[in-house]
Amino acid sequence: MALSVKQNKGILIEYKRQGIVLDPTGHNYNYPVFVSHAHADHAAAFKFPDYCKYATEETVDLLNALGWKNIQNWNKVKLGDRIRLDDIEIHIHNAGHVLGSVQFEVNTPEGNVLYTGDIGLEDSYTMKSAECKKCDILIIETTFGSPLFSFPKRKEIALDMVRWATMDALPHNKIPVFKTDSIGNAQEIIKIFNLLTKLPVVTSKSASKVSEVYRNHGYELEFYDYKSKNGEELIENKRCVVISPKGSKLPIEDMEPALASGWAVLFNKRSKAFPLSDHADFKSLLSYIRRCKPKKVLTFHGGTLTKDFHSYIHTKLGIEARPLSNNIETINGLLYNNGSRVKSCTNQILKTVRIPGFNYTETWLTREMTRTGYSINETQQAVNFLLNRGVLEKTEIGIKLR
Ligand SMILES: [Zn+2]
Ligand SMILES: [Zn+2]
Repeated sequence: MALSVKQNKGILIEYKRQGIVLDPTGHNYNYPVFVSHAHADHAAAFKFPDYCKYATEETVDLLNALGWKNIQNWNKVKLGDRIRLDDIEIHIHNAGHVLGSVQFEVNTPEGNVLYTGDIGLEDSYTMKSAECKKCDILIIETTFGSPLFSFPKRKEIALDMVRWATMDALPHNKIPVFKTDSIGNAQEIIKIFNLLTKLPVVTSKSASKVSEVYRNHGYELEFYDYKSKNGEELIENKRCVVISPKGSKLPIEDMEPALASGWAVLFNKRSKAFPLSDHADFKSLLSYIRRCKPKKVLTFHGGTLTKDFHSYIHTKLGIEARPLSNNIETINGLLYNNGSRVKSCTNQILKTVRIPGFNYTETWLTREMTRTGYSINETQQAVNFLLNRGVLEKTEIGIKLR
């Protein structure tokens, strides 16, 4: 079938009889899967040992450090690699988000799809900005895809953080504590304080483990785990800045917490929050899209605040855009039907699902059908056809023959 894209427990890209899944969130497919980076909402594929996975070594090292179990069945990719699977070739590009984060450019003879994963579009204290690639379909994250999100210059944010810690918190005999993500922001804050101050940095458990992985991959970061002798002393003497993931509790008296996150732009002036983010803001997302020159943009990863990002893309850039969904997208438009293939797929399903009243799970059926050469999209269209005709019936776990 034509090059197609849809969302269904991950991003499914199919071309002819080959397919791949990007950042799957569940277990549904027989296709090889690609994991863009180590944040939990993208790396779920590593919970399924039987998935054949592709990821960077940095990503896997981070997951191991964070205690993920059963990490196996994966192939190492690195920036610049091209992985060929039949008529599909996946090209690996930097995403500028966190250690080991990549974008996937999926090339086929019919055209290409660029999937950003999460992207950073500015050189930060730890990351190099993501690079844009010309593409036919761009699938882009929209975490901060609203005009509400406009981040100040990074250097200003860094100086603000240093100023607050050294001239506000510490002189009042309080330990400044940055609440932030343990992968990405935590290491950038360490770097900022290493570069701009002589103040030691103390990190709580997960931030220490992650920062250790950064170090192993060549980053110069100086920090002390809060359980180490140095760490305990520094806290005792209130001679440090502390980095602690959001939600984790530190047994520290006299601490002054501040948030470091892109969401900080929404906070009022009185609560301490710094808009340090490893995601691109609204303007840089739009300029990135313009530079990629896509025929179509599919957005993902937004919330209520960013649900209209696709209409900004349309009005400001004149590019067709909509949220990625379980509709099948092709370069030439939405695909509802592809005639004879679906018809023969329908027949194959009837040969496969033979026991009346028996419950067949969707996962099982999809696997059986991909084994006989039908794509997941074709299978789903055929199943829908049979459901509409009343030949099949939906059950809690899948389908059954009436
Ligand atoms: Zn991320
Ligand atoms: Zn994400």
